[in-house]
Amino acid sequence: MKGLAGGLITNARTTFAFMKQHPWVVPIWGIQRESELQEFLELEKNPPAYDEEMKQLIARDRAELAGNFCHGCGYCQPCPVGIPIQNAARMSLLLRRSPYQSWLTDEMNAEMMKIENCLHCGACASRCPYGLDTPRLLAENLADYKQFRAEHLNK
Ligand code: SF4
Ligand code: SF4
Repeated sequence: MKGLAGGLITNARTTFAFMKQHPWVVPIWGIQRESELQEFLELEKNPPAYDEEMKQLIARDRAELAGNFCHGCGYCQPCPVGIPIQNAARMSLLLRRSPYQSWLTDEMNAEMMKIENCLHCGACASRCPYGLDTPRLLAENLADYKQFRAEHLNK
């Protein structure tokens, strides 16, 4: 599901070639934009070979993302204090893997600051299909967000 992980994985060609390694798996691409659908349809017409460069790219992504990688699926919701977990728990990645300006607005800052009201009830972690320690991830992402915002707000 969500081959490009909601925008955090950026190389559709590599993702497509990797999935083709497993013909018994039916991918649910989970596109966000029509252009992504078109890209996958074009790749289907002429499937690329899974090569060494793609393997290295996946190895780099795996090293960077494994363990703390929130997929943004939202299965952990609802949160009793309204924390937007599916974005907040992966904010550090969003800031660095997508245009960051829209994440630094006053409105988004207020959403992120809700993490300070976390009850540590554990409801989110108990529902996360990836076994993430969601409250810890949120706290780490908030600390990083504050620092990143202070450094980049008016750039
Ligand atoms: S642990 Fe915190 S983030 Fe998770 S559901 Fe409870 S209040 Fe929300
Ligand atoms: S914390 Fe887990 S359940 Fe919640 S959005 Fe991230 S990956 Fe999905």
